[in-house]
Amino acid sequence: TERQSKRRRVVLKLSGEAFGGGQLGVNPDVVSQIAREIAAATDRVEIAVVVGGGNFFRGAELSQRGMDRGRADYMGMLGTVMNALALQDFLEQAGAEPRVQSAIAMTQVAEPYLPLRAERHMEKSRVVIFGAGAGLPYFSTDTVAAQRALEIGADEVLVAKNGVDAIYTADPHKDATAERIEQVTFQDALVRGLKVVDSTAFSLCMDNGMDMRVFGMEPAGNITKALLGEPIGTRVTA
Ligand code: UDP
Repeated sequence: TERQSKRRRVVLKLSGEAFGGGQLGVNPDVVSQIAREIAAATDRVEIAVVVGGGNFFRGAELSQRGMDRGRADYMGMLGTVMNALALQDFLEQAGAEPRVQSAIAMTQVAEPYLPLRAERHMEKSRVVIFGAGAGLPYFSTDTVAAQRALEIGADEVLVAKNGVDAIYTADPHKDATAERIEQVTFQDALVRGLKVVDSTAFSLCMDNGMDMRVFGMEPAGNITKALLGEPIGTRVTA
C-alpha cells in the first residue's frame, strides 16, 4: 500500500521494565513522563508505540521455573496490554489522542491489530499503541517493533532503553573496557553478539532494510529527541 503522508513515521519500542520503574507493576510517575515526551512530538511525527511487558512477566523466565512456555508467553503478552492501557491513559492526560491495538482479541479494551487502520490513525496524528506483542509465543516485543515498523511503512525503529544510553561493545555496567558505539550494521551487531536488542529483531531489520536507533530514556527529553530524529544513542543500519 502507498503511504498517504510524507511526515516522518516511527515505531517507538518501550521496555516494560521502564514502566515499572524497576519494580513489578506500573509506576504512574514514569509512565506519565514518557507520555508527555511522546505527546510533545505528535504534531510533527507519526508515532506508533510497541510496549514490552518485562515489569509483569517474561515467558522464558516462567518456563525455566516449570511453566509451559507457550502459556507463560501468553501471560507475558497480557502484561504488555496492561502497560498499553496505562500509557493510553497518561497520553490522554497529556493531550494526545491514543488508540490501543491488541494482537490478541480483547474487544472491550483495545481495537484488533489492523495495520491499515493504524496508519489512518497516525495520519490523523493519533498515537497508536500496539499491545500483546505479535500474539505469538517465542517472540519478543523488540521483534514486534521491527515487524510493525515494516508493516506500517515506518522510517525507523526507535528502541528506548533504561539504564544504558547506547549500544556498547560489552555491558558497561559489568565491563570497564566497554566502548560506546555510534553506528553499527545489523550484520556486525549480530556477529559481535551485541545483545541490547534481540537477534531476531536485528535480522528482521537487516533483511528488510529497516533503520534502527537504540538510545537511553534518560535524561528527560530523550524520547522526544529520538522521535524528532535527533542523532542520539546508536544508529543501526543495513
Ligand atoms: N511475548 C511473546 N510474544 C510476543 C511478545 C511478547 O510471547 O510477540 C511475551 C514473552 O514472554 C516476553 C513477554 O511477552 O518475555 C514480555 O515481552 P518482552 O520480554 O519483550 O518485554 P520487555 O523486555 O520489552 O519489557
